Amino acid sequence: MVVPTSDVPTTVEIPAQSGAVVTLAAGHRLKIIDIEGSQVADLFAVSASDLDEWLSVPVTRACTWRLFPAVGQSFFSTAYRPLLTFERDDSPGAHDMLEPPCSAEMYRAMAYAGYHPSCSENFRTAAVQVDWHPQSVPDPVNFFQRSPVEADGSFTALPALTSPGDSVTLRAETAVHVVVTACSMDLEPINGDHCTPLRLEVGP
Ligand SMILES: [Zn+2]
Repeated sequence: MVVPTSDVPTTVEIPAQSGAVVTLAAGHRLKIIDIEGSQVADLFAVSASDLDEWLSVPVTRACTWRLFPAVGQSFFSTAYRPLLTFERDDSPGAHDMLEPPCSAEMYRAMAYAGYHPSCSENFRTAAVQVDWHPQSVPDPVNFFQRSPVEADGSFTALPALTSPGDSVTLRAETAVHVVVTACSMDLEPINGDHCTPLRLEVGP
């Protein structure tokens, strides 16, 4: 579903194990709501004026000197420009910038036989709706994902701590297309005991 830039607040429902794309004008906001709780939201973004400039998680880590997102920081592009700023966090505060999106290859590597929905496939399905066709699926910001790092450098992926209705709010620094996927992972309990929907609210 493509939601064009508008001054009228818009709500987009993302069913479990699927995704959506929305377009934000500069200064507009995106609220990502975890409707039932314990659901990871993968976020990808690209400049609406240059589809070769997308949100880079490695560049964001380098620009912010942080492994995990925090309120007040921006998410930077492959051109080292801020695309989005993390304005408000109404969740327990655990988010991830270390893990790749789940993919058919990941599920195969986990010995899952047969078809499994994935954030990578759902990203492609949404991104083509704004004519975004990157050669590789970018690494996402994984909101609500809990991946604590230990002092020895190891890390784990634990069930998300979010409660029903928890949310994060981002502000667009420039016009951007944003893809959000409700993570499909159900072989590990990062999404609690089952995958659930998300809701997006877009507006001024
Ligand atoms: Zn996923």
